[in-house]
Amino acid sequence: MATNPFLETLSFVSMDVEDARFEIRELQPDGHRALFARTNFQAGEAICSFGASQIMTQPDRYTVQAATAERHIILTPEFLLYVNHDCRPNVFFDLRTMQLRAVAPIREGDELTFFYPSTEWAMSKAFECHCGSAHCLGRIRGAAYLDDESLKRYDLAEHIKDLLWLRKLEQRNGR
Ligand SMILES: [Zn+2]
Repeated sequence: MATNPFLETLSFVSMDVEDARFEIRELQPDGHRALFARTNFQAGEAICSFGASQIMTQPDRYTVQAATAERHIILTPEFLLYVNHDCRPNVFFDLRTMQLRAVAPIREGDELTFFYPSTEWAMSKAFECHCGSAHCLGRIRGAAYLDDESLKRYDLAEHIKDLLWLRKLEQRNGR
């Protein structure tokens, strides 16, 4: 099974961001970017505030879904765009408090990752996950494509919980 590309190669360039507790690493030569911690964070810690530089009506690869309706935000500060997906994430975008929260201990040098379906119902583009976690879900397309059992180990945004509840209601009515 393929694992995180950053673990397979040391060939990357580190880039400073406006918050000294983080850095972007860019793999060479393919240019894949990811956000890494330069310090430790405890599980449960609110590690960074975030906001929206733009609100869009359609999702794309850089947006985070912010509500049940068609509301998708471009995150600010911009370095948060490089928080990639992992099926065993260590951060969660808490849209109620607008805080990025650690959901597992993070050590200096760890990549920051979040579980895309925790905010995304139906993504604009599916991809094959190669995170290497024992619980890797493989093809990631959003929470709409995952069963309740797969989702129950994760923190989920309120709009995702609402949509899962609606799905359950529809399934019940369909019977
Ligand atoms: Zn995975």
